[in-house]
Amino acid sequence: MTTTAVSTTAARIGAQPHVVVIGAGIAGLTAALRLRRAGARVTQVTKGLGGIQLSQGTIDILGYTPDRVSRPLDAIDDYAAAHPAHPYAKIGSDAVRQGVAFLRDVAGEEFLVGDGEENVNLPTAVGAVRPTALIPPSMTAGVLHDGLKVVIIGTAQLKDFHPMLVAQNLERTVLPDGGRVQARAVMTDFEPRPNEFDASGLTFARALDDPKTRRAFAEGLKGFVNEGEAVGLPAVLGLDDHQAAIAEISSIIGAPVFEISSLPPCVPGMRLNEKLVTTVKTERVEFILGSKVIGRTAADGKITSVTVGVAGHKREIACDAVILAAGGFESGALRLDSHGTVHDTVLDLPVKLPEGIDADTLTHEDYWGKPQPLFEVGVDVDSSMKVIKDGVPVFDNVYAAGGVLAGATRWQDKTGEGIALGSAVKAADAVLAGLPVAAPAAQTAERN
Ligand SMILES: Cc1cc2nc3c(=O)[nH]c(=O)nc-3n(C[C@H](O)[C@H](O)[C@H](O)COP(=O)(O)OP(=O)(O)OC[C@H]3O[C@@H](n4cnc5c(N)ncnc54)[C@H](O)[C@@H]3O)c2cc1C
Repeated sequence: MTTTAVSTTAARIGAQPHVVVIGAGIAGLTAALRLRRAGARVTQVTKGLGGIQLSQGTIDILGYTPDRVSRPLDAIDDYAAAHPAHPYAKIGSDAVRQGVAFLRDVAGEEFLVGDGEENVNLPTAVGAVRPTALIPPSMTAGVLHDGLKVVIIGTAQLKDFHPMLVAQNLERTVLPDGGRVQARAVMTDFEPRPNEFDASGLTFARALDDPKTRRAFAEGLKGFVNEGEAVGLPAVLGLDDHQAAIAEISSIIGAPVFEISSLPPCVPGMRLNEKLVTTVKTERVEFILGSKVIGRTAADGKITSVTVGVAGHKREIACDAVILAAGGFESGALRLDSHGTVHDTVLDLPVKLPEGIDADTLTHEDYWGKPQPLFEVGVDVDSSMKVIKDGVPVFDNVYAAGGVLAGATRWQDKTGEGIALGSAVKAADAVLAGLPVAAPAAQTAERN
């Protein structure tokens, strides 16, 4: 394997410091854009698209403590005080608030509504009730409340969505505030493309981008809807032309329509991901997709370059600061070896195990019981998101954000996106505070 050194530091382009962000999930995209908007030169290196693609397109801040949380932003600091190892103890509610506001500003109301102050209840693909904080506008008519009447409509060709299961479970559920929903189900037939009997959500969404197809789809549903009902449909109502699709379908049916997210890849997550990735590219973050960070060089207590492996070739990207936003086990950033040791596969930083846990107790066999301690392994940070070991920075210029942070079972307390947003804001702001970044207006002619 050959190696090329690409001098992308401040030295090459003038005074502007160069920050490398590793990963393109919600943490990496938020950090990259925040740095860029403040005037930094940013290269975002990612081996693949992040977890937003797989997610439901909603933003969880804090769902359970384990009791259901109504006001997530207000609850963060108490939750952190009770769970000092949780990333929220370092991040704090202010940074999460700023992260939510930043994301709302970037995504806009076409992609996310809500301000994070209140959790709403959404139906899941199995008809359970899930608290979440920010949601796509296409889900607002499905926010569950006492007296809501819904008809859940599926099509036989979309095998992953089961309207009867959704409706039956909703019917028998008592909402957290004691209310109830009336729900019934209808199964229809609709081939998104001629003779397509077994379609994925993505195929459906692409088909419904076509105005002719979506009109035929909506016309076919009209007769199934009763007065006063909102219509729950699988979350496939258009991909690129979603706004027009949902408006037209709702108008033809003559009732409020809402989407229910199903299996990954999840179309609302894909829409949000596309919006964020397009924004970082448009705002001239250098976005390098399909490139895995496989190492780094260090000198004088700092990482001076990251090594990127690209198709039989190594590339050195020189940098002034690094934000590791490479996710956790699910993205391959963390790996458990056969000796029970967990590794950061990206920069080889030390990882922290939960208190009282060692290699032999990282997992337990009560699979339906408590969460595995393994889930809480990750890198440790101080309150500026600088990576530390035993309280001391590992490098002076290396920060971490998102799912790589130690201390949370994110899908259980529903803090994954809140952690990612708050830590990305903190890490980006700490980088900016430590580097001589010029104001954005002064660098408009610059290449980045
Ligand atoms: C199955 C599942 C269900 C979940 N459910 C919930 C939920 O209901 N509620 C909730 O709050 N949270 C949930 N989470 C957690 C939530 O999805 C994550 O916390 C959040 O998406 C993490 O975002 P991130 O940006 O840190 O990482 P990711 O979205 O994982 O992005 C990591 C990025 O790093 C890149 N990368 C990895 N290694 C390298 C490398 N060596 N070089 C370059 N790039 C690299 C990846 O390609 C990717 O782009 C769930 C997670 C999983 C896996």
